[in-house]
Amino acid sequence: MFELPELPYAYDALEPYISRQIQELHHDRHHKAYTDNLNKALSVHPEWEGKSIEEIIRGYASAPDDIRTALRNHGGGYYNHSLFWLMMSPKKDQRPEGSLLDAVEASFGSYDAFVKQFSDSAGKLFGSGWEWLVLDNGKLALMSTANQDCPLTQGKAPLLGLDVWEHAYYPQYYNKRPDYVSAWWHVVNWEDVQERFDRAGK
Ligand code: MN
Repeated sequence: MFELPELPYAYDALEPYISRQIQELHHDRHHKAYTDNLNKALSVHPEWEGKSIEEIIRGYASAPDDIRTALRNHGGGYYNHSLFWLMMSPKKDQRPEGSLLDAVEASFGSYDAFVKQFSDSAGKLFGSGWEWLVLDNGKLALMSTANQDCPLTQGKAPLLGLDVWEHAYYPQYYNKRPDYVSAWWHVVNWEDVQERFDRAGK
């Protein structure tokens, strides 16, 4: 049984960039639904119940036919959102530093160029999905995934992810995804990205 993780800060801690209303709906309803549906799917095949969420995300292709899609959608939703809360912080306007900043500059030219490329890609992502900064064979790269697919399934380490499903921004930003994306940069938890970068590089 997987449990819905608590938000690591108050519902209104990311305001004014991400509203309390969004956080309440997104965590208490959407993330809870992914959690419940993941548990429901696993209960059908108890041999899968002991696996870690990372094992499920990496290995859903080998899951039984009748739960494979549920694991992909709801396991992905469970995991991606568990990461997403940690990848944001009430400590606003952080910037990458040190070894991470060096890697960003090596791969994208500069922090500003990285923000622009990531934001452009997030804006172009059609329908529902996620935009990611990943570590792929030791190098930083951008990646877009549809629905609740996760870079981990393709052997890439997610360092930073942005949820661009409408449920992530519509109550505050309506159809203006670019406004949501530019506001979101204020709450990115670069300390968390640095920790993921250090762990993934080892
Ligand atoms: Mn979401």
